[in-house]
Amino acid sequence: MKRISHILVIFAFIVLIIPTNVLAEQLTYGQILDDLAKAQKELEKNNQSVGNAQGQVQKDNETIKNLKSEIEKMKNENTELQQEIADSYVEIDNKKEQTKDLIAYLQVSQGENVYLDYVFGGETITDLVYRLSIVEQITEYNETMIKELDELITRNEKRKVELAENEQKTEQKIENLKSEVAKLNNTVTQLSSLTPSLKDEVKAKQDLVNYYKSQGCSNRSDVIGVDCARTASSGIFLRPIKTGYITSFINYRYICTPKKDCYSSFHKGTDMGSPLGKNTPIYSIGTGVITSKWTDGDGAICINVQYKDAKGTYYTAIYAHLSRYADGLYVGKTVTSDTILGYMGDTGNVTGVHLHLEVYPCRLYIDSNCRTWSAYSQYAENLFKKGYKGTESVIDFPSRVSQTWYSR
Ligand SMILES: [Zn+2]
Repeated sequence: MKRISHILVIFAFIVLIIPTNVLAEQLTYGQILDDLAKAQKELEKNNQSVGNAQGQVQKDNETIKNLKSEIEKMKNENTELQQEIADSYVEIDNKKEQTKDLIAYLQVSQGENVYLDYVFGGETITDLVYRLSIVEQITEYNETMIKELDELITRNEKRKVELAENEQKTEQKIENLKSEVAKLNNTVTQLSSLTPSLKDEVKAKQDLVNYYKSQGCSNRSDVIGVDCARTASSGIFLRPIKTGYITSFINYRYICTPKKDCYSSFHKGTDMGSPLGKNTPIYSIGTGVITSKWTDGDGAICINVQYKDAKGTYYTAIYAHLSRYADGLYVGKTVTSDTILGYMGDTGNVTGVHLHLEVYPCRLYIDSNCRTWSAYSQYAENLFKKGYKGTESVIDFPSRVSQTWYSR
């Protein structure tokens, strides 16, 4: 969730800076590059984890297969042992039977019937003795055999117990491996389900980097929206002077002047100077209509021009502290960006030659939010608090004081 909210913050940030060139924080191009690298690393790590888990599952499944075949072998051996035991018992029975028969024969031979047997079976007494000795040998042989078979049965029974134990152990191993496989598969599922969002994040961040790169960001220290990726709206009007530099941006400041004491005030215009000083022509920032030529209480020569942008929004620009007006200007005259309105000066409450320019989206003295000067001043300040930077939001100025430009 953190990642998603992070992306949302970045997108909200873009949405914010695109229309107004407002910077709530100083985000550098380097930070965006770092963000991308971090997301890429995370994705790589995730993919590796998925790969490892899948590899382990494969190994475990292989082991389970081998163990199952071992169990199969043990079961076969068990069956064989069972058969051997059964065969041994039969064999023992046979031998016992045979011995019993032989003993019976021997008893008969040694008893009263020996003669009868001799009469019916043997041909000579020597033959009879020979037969008795054979019976004796066979009996002895059978007894040995029975003993060996008994021992074989004991061994087989012992092996059967061993096999049963092994089988149980192997079954347990399989159970453990199966549960490990289940866990690993679970991990794979979890990691895989995370992968698309991680991929999306990397993609979004890559897009962001590409976007800023296309907008001229190249150095890690470049501040987004200031040094690069300046928004289109910052350039809807041209600069009023060809060569110049900013001396003071829109801000709250503490002012000390020769005529007044020091005071804190909202400076709602952008001040700029020029190497040409009082000879610097001041051009209209775009096509508009002159709405007022006036001088303030301190003697500052000013001219107001009303503009309308492509979206139909009205703006009023106030050019102040002029040394003089250009010829042929009157209220209601349409001017273009090639029209010279006047020349830079130091009229009014100033400390030096400069142009003070205010541009706000309002028809001064017409629209309700700037119907009066005090309403206009309040409106300008409120816009500033919301992030609108007046002149600097609609004209492409350098981000630093004293940085000179040489074209409009
Ligand atoms: Zn100023």
